[in-house]
Amino acid sequence: MSKIVLLAINAKYVHSSLAVWSLAASIKKRHGAKHDVNVIEANINQNIADIAYSVTELEPDFVGISAYIWNAGILPELLKLLREQLPGVVIILGGPEAVYNAQHWRDNGADFVLKGQNDQSVDPYTDEYFSALGDKLAYIETSRGCPYSCAFCLSADSSVEFFPLETVKERILKLSQTKTKTIKFVDRTFNCNPKRAYELYEYIIGLQSCKARLCTNCKFHFEVAADLFDDKTLNLLATAPPGKIQFEIGLQSFFEPALKASSRKTDLIKAEKNITKLLKTQNIHIHVDLIAGLPYETLDSFRESFDRAYRLGAHTLQLGFLKLLHGSKLRNEAQKLGIIYDKNPPYEIQSSTWLSALDIKILKNTENALQHTYNKNRFLKTIEYVLEVSGISPFKFYQTLGSKHPNYAMQLEDYVYHVYEFCKDLTGVDNEILCDKLHYDWLSMVKGKNLPAFLKNRKGRLNALRLTPCAICPVQCKSKVKTASCPPVHTLKRNEHAILSTGERIIVDTGSQNPVTGLYKVLIN
Ligand code: SF4
Repeated sequence: MSKIVLLAINAKYVHSSLAVWSLAASIKKRHGAKHDVNVIEANINQNIADIAYSVTELEPDFVGISAYIWNAGILPELLKLLREQLPGVVIILGGPEAVYNAQHWRDNGADFVLKGQNDQSVDPYTDEYFSALGDKLAYIETSRGCPYSCAFCLSADSSVEFFPLETVKERILKLSQTKTKTIKFVDRTFNCNPKRAYELYEYIIGLQSCKARLCTNCKFHFEVAADLFDDKTLNLLATAPPGKIQFEIGLQSFFEPALKASSRKTDLIKAEKNITKLLKTQNIHIHVDLIAGLPYETLDSFRESFDRAYRLGAHTLQLGFLKLLHGSKLRNEAQKLGIIYDKNPPYEIQSSTWLSALDIKILKNTENALQHTYNKNRFLKTIEYVLEVSGISPFKFYQTLGSKHPNYAMQLEDYVYHVYEFCKDLTGVDNEILCDKLHYDWLSMVKGKNLPAFLKNRKGRLNALRLTPCAICPVQCKSKVKTASCPPVHTLKRNEHAILSTGERIIVDTGSQNPVTGLYKVLIN
């Protein structure tokens, strides 16, 4: 009997790997007890020597490793350690980073690089998988390939293979009964077949109200094309329980020449209309992606794309940077297009004919501010107010905040003061209203943290006192039991309140979080 170790090195502790479990199930299905198959899941934040030890202590004959963009940087050192400690072992690499760069990995210690894909009928969800999964993020695939041709993507122009719907539903049900908090669909464009996607949304929405089954409260995350939704699907999605569904929507850019040069076909007007409709019901978390650095995209054209995307009001707006992936059309054309990129993973753009290195730095500053504010649901009321009264564009706001006050792992208590310092000097901003907005945001986004000193000491007002519901509710019945005559504030589990400069009170229920945004419920009276 030979001993096999299948190693996945995930990007974060909370991630899991579908590939290694799928291969393990496949080997067992084909070869039964002929091989002793062991799965190890590590993550890139672990010490490389510790990862190597977890493999070598099992003394395997074969080691299979899945190579992805997030772990490719540490693999050469890991392969070296494995070679030194297990001289006779056969090392096999698979995954997108290995397939399109096979010679590099052969030179770095791999014996074989595997191409191709595992049999879709193999069920990776074994008891062993579930006990390893715990409450980590679970992955599921219901289709393979993508019919679109985006020049920066490895899935471009691959024929789409759909898994049988009944099998998919069984797997969704199995996963939804585990402790996982999020089930992420790895389908490249989940709704490329809108009719099939409708059936699965309907099944998932139905699952949540199915009391007879042991359905948990997990969320379902999909990568979708916004222009493919029809009205029937949007109406169905409007009935999804709040927070149950998350959509990741790649818009990439609004600049037509950049989209055309990237072979990206999107009906932008329809996509915008559909995103606006999806956001109207506030029951689905919407994440929109932009990519900086596409061919023909200048700083000015990207600024316009950013502002147009920002105004949609998605819950997350990701400002990503072009990555020149092995095997992608754009990597092959990079030299011709004048795109300079980092030769190490993740192969990010450094400059191009249209974007200078300084432009990239400006975009990085913008991303830094966006990530530490808007994308973490922080300072939302403050930013809304400041943008409105100052007339500054969203891009300019984040760009200037990011360059004046970059946040490199700063404590929130310190960062809030930087945000205040930056905002107070903008044209039209009233200091008292700004502090009110920051106060409101602070109470809605953190729990149990002291108010920053500069907000606490404003004109000696009563601020952020912790009171029992009846001490602040207008009825003041002293009862801890809710009655029909109680105002809504009486139902608060825990609360903090503050008096604003207008004399109004804001009351925050830290026992109740918005299932879509995660913000605490705020009442003004
Ligand atoms: S970026 Fe998305 S839509 Fe484009 S080819 Fe890749 S998976 Fe398909």
